[in-house]
Amino acid sequence: MTGQVVVVGSANVDLVVDVPRHPGGGETILGGDLRRTPGGKGANSAVAAARAGGAETTFVGALGRDESAELLLASLGGAGVRTDLVSRVDAPTGTALITVSPDGENAIVVSPGANARLELTAAQVERIARADVVLAQLEIPLDMVRAAAAARRPGARMVLNAAPSQDLPGDVWAALDLLIVNEYEAADLAHTHAAPEELAAALLERVPAVVITLGAEGSLVAQRDRASVRVPGVKVDAVDTTGAGDTFCGVLAAGLARGLDLAGAARLAGAAAALAVTRPGAQDAVPTVAEVEESAK
Ligand code: ATP
Repeated sequence: MTGQVVVVGSANVDLVVDVPRHPGGGETILGGDLRRTPGGKGANSAVAAARAGGAETTFVGALGRDESAELLLASLGGAGVRTDLVSRVDAPTGTALITVSPDGENAIVVSPGANARLELTAAQVERIARADVVLAQLEIPLDMVRAAAAARRPGARMVLNAAPSQDLPGDVWAALDLLIVNEYEAADLAHTHAAPEELAAALLERVPAVVITLGAEGSLVAQRDRASVRVPGVKVDAVDTTGAGDTFCGVLAAGLARGLDLAGAARLAGAAAALAVTRPGAQDAVPTVAEVEESAK
């Protein structure tokens, strides 16, 4: 182990049902068998960081005291994520209700539950202060993103995957070292629709480095002090893109923690995310570093 990653974020159980079409208001329809799988942006990214190897990964988040919490702890632990500091609160574990239509379109309702009750403890703050990379997303209260950024040590990097999309206050922008967003989130934050290079240039006025993910096209790596780099996508037959972005962020964080430069970490992250989209599910689809290396041969 050469680095430490702490992921501060959400954990959800995904309740997924295939439907012939999404129901309208007041309507009841019959769907297929229920699938219950571990998810949530924070937990997915933590699993990806741990499976990427080279860095010790801790998940800091809040779970309820229910069966869903046990499912998530088993998934995180099974991937090698440290879960010793996960908070348990008196609220149901976060849940995503997902219907999937035959054309693959998802309709999702997220009930944040325990995620909305996250309050960093002294022990969690201490672990964050030992990290090389702190990775957060926006499925937890913005105040916890602030607290995580404030807790990091000098020289450590604060990375925000600004998803789901929301406007960020000035103090949060000022606390970031790296922003990771997809094209839609980039356009929201830049308040304009433009080519990725232009969006990145606009965002670099607020944050020193930006990675914009471009789906099958790969990603754009932009930093204030150097020319931006396009990392091409890896050609695969996509089966399920759920969690591609989370896998990308987790593997990128692990890459930075073990000393890769940003473009190198984005290349590794793109290879892992491409492999993840060839498999169904979120956490279950995240590949190990050995699988990524094998696929690159
Ligand atoms: P999601 O919400 O589906 O998890 P996202 O919208 O946050 O994803 P994307 O830009 O779609 O983010 O995907 C993240 C990364 O995953 C991309 O930068 C790319 O490296 C990889 N990826 C996604 N889709 C594909 C694909 N069809 N083929 C190859 N790589 C892909």
